[in-house]
Amino acid sequence: MSTIPHWIDGARTTGVSSRTSDVFNPATGSVAAQVVLAEQADVDLAVSSSLKAAQSWSESSLSTRSRILFAYRHLLHTHRDELAAIITSEHGKVLSDAAGEVQRGLEVVEFACGIPQLLKGEHSEQVSRGVDAYSFRQPLGVVAGITPFNFPVMVPMWMFPIAIACGNTFVLKPSERDPSASLRLAELFQEAGLPDGVLNVLQGDAFAVNALLDHADVAAASFVGSTPIARHVYSRGTAAGKRVQALGGAKNHMVVLPDADLDVAADAAVSAGYGSAGERCMAISVVVAVGETGDELVSKIASRTRELHPSVLPGTDPAAQMGPLVTGVHRDRVRSYVDAGEAAGASLVVDGRDYAPEGHPDGFWLAPTLFDHVTRDMSIYTDEIFGPVLAVVRAETFEDALELVNANQYGNGTAIYTGDGLAAREYQRRVHVGMVGINVPIPVPMAYYSFGGWKDSLFGDTHVHGAEGVKFYTRAKAVTSRWPQQHGVNLGFPTHG
Ligand code: NAD
Repeated sequence: MSTIPHWIDGARTTGVSSRTSDVFNPATGSVAAQVVLAEQADVDLAVSSSLKAAQSWSESSLSTRSRILFAYRHLLHTHRDELAAIITSEHGKVLSDAAGEVQRGLEVVEFACGIPQLLKGEHSEQVSRGVDAYSFRQPLGVVAGITPFNFPVMVPMWMFPIAIACGNTFVLKPSERDPSASLRLAELFQEAGLPDGVLNVLQGDAFAVNALLDHADVAAASFVGSTPIARHVYSRGTAAGKRVQALGGAKNHMVVLPDADLDVAADAAVSAGYGSAGERCMAISVVVAVGETGDELVSKIASRTRELHPSVLPGTDPAAQMGPLVTGVHRDRVRSYVDAGEAAGASLVVDGRDYAPEGHPDGFWLAPTLFDHVTRDMSIYTDEIFGPVLAVVRAETFEDALELVNANQYGNGTAIYTGDGLAAREYQRRVHVGMVGINVPIPVPMAYYSFGGWKDSLFGDTHVHGAEGVKFYTRAKAVTSRWPQQHGVNLGFPTHG
């Protein structure tokens, strides 16, 4: 049985801890490896390595940083398929989806390559006679990143390329469920020329997270994961005086108005609901059928959902459209929501329980599942299920649909399907959600825009990546400068004459 180690100071190390956690192959259900789980001494080692590296890295020139990022971008591109295979082996998602995830991460590196432009400051000449004022942004020091299982490459890369480009050093604590990809990301960055200690990978669980949040030498933390943990990370990190951004869970609604093309809407609902087995923070989990659309829309979604079942296969199978769920524990949790929805009286239109592709009886399977006539009091509506379960809620009017979305605790993403530009504009303006798609089911912003939700989907002020990322990983300094030509004491407050 192989052991998945940390990456500290430019080398793999198993550290001092004897605690480990199982990492599965989700398609077979077997344990593929053990990942080490950090103890305090491992956390201290990673943070002290990053603190030491920060002294010289923060002094590195912008062109050096940019050059290393360009080289990293090239290596990521060259190793895209290898990284995708690592993701699929531990996460379960299909290979093409995993390659898409690498691509989205790579785009953040491309954005970070422009760091000399992104870090330009402001300068005002002659704010007073002989006086200039200017401002610029400087790195924070050691930044921690804590990431979820569902995007083991993309989500860490929302964070560390920008943090490092800004002159910080970074300790990444990836999900213990699919930890291998992070090691490869770190190795490739070293190959691109990144000095040792600038990016460390600390494997671990809640203990490592809390130790990083409490650590006096960690200046800031970026977190992405579920809402209860995001809330915890935000309050514990800020209580320790750190800058924290914590992105949480989601319940993304897709509103379908009566004038929408229902075939287009059904395609979108199925793609966004079941892609990556629903284990995406931008997955559509609720379809709001407005007015008369309900019966026809549900019938179109149902036929597409049933057609998908035979292509629920191991992610490495070229015919696979959807893979298994990440672990047996998670699959059982999702399954318990399907049981609860049925017991609560929702109509179970397509049942994905008790499915397993031929030859893989022990994988963590649950095929696409569709509920209709879901009401807002049912747990399949209120809770984030994070699996291939789509719930259709009926709404009489546009206003009813909008009120439903705005009353929900989450505000990560939403979509509206309509042929009416005015209705779309009204929705975009009035909806209390951070990312909106108009006839786009997964409105994921590009690397040069920022990504983040509202309400219980985000704790903190800044979204990740884009200009907001640069802002989060730096702090401003304003300088007032004069080169005096005359002497003389003046006790007055300057009047900028
Ligand atoms: P999770 O909250 O269980 O874990 C996230 C991270 O927190 C992991 O690194 C984990 O080790 C750590 N952690 C877990 N329990 C902890 C505890 N008690 N104390 C401290 N740290 C702890 O999330 P997950 O199951 O890995 O990922 C799925 C969740 O992430 C979903 O809720 C999904 O919506 C969310 N997500 C959100 C976004 C977004 O952009 N808002 C993006 C991706 C995923």
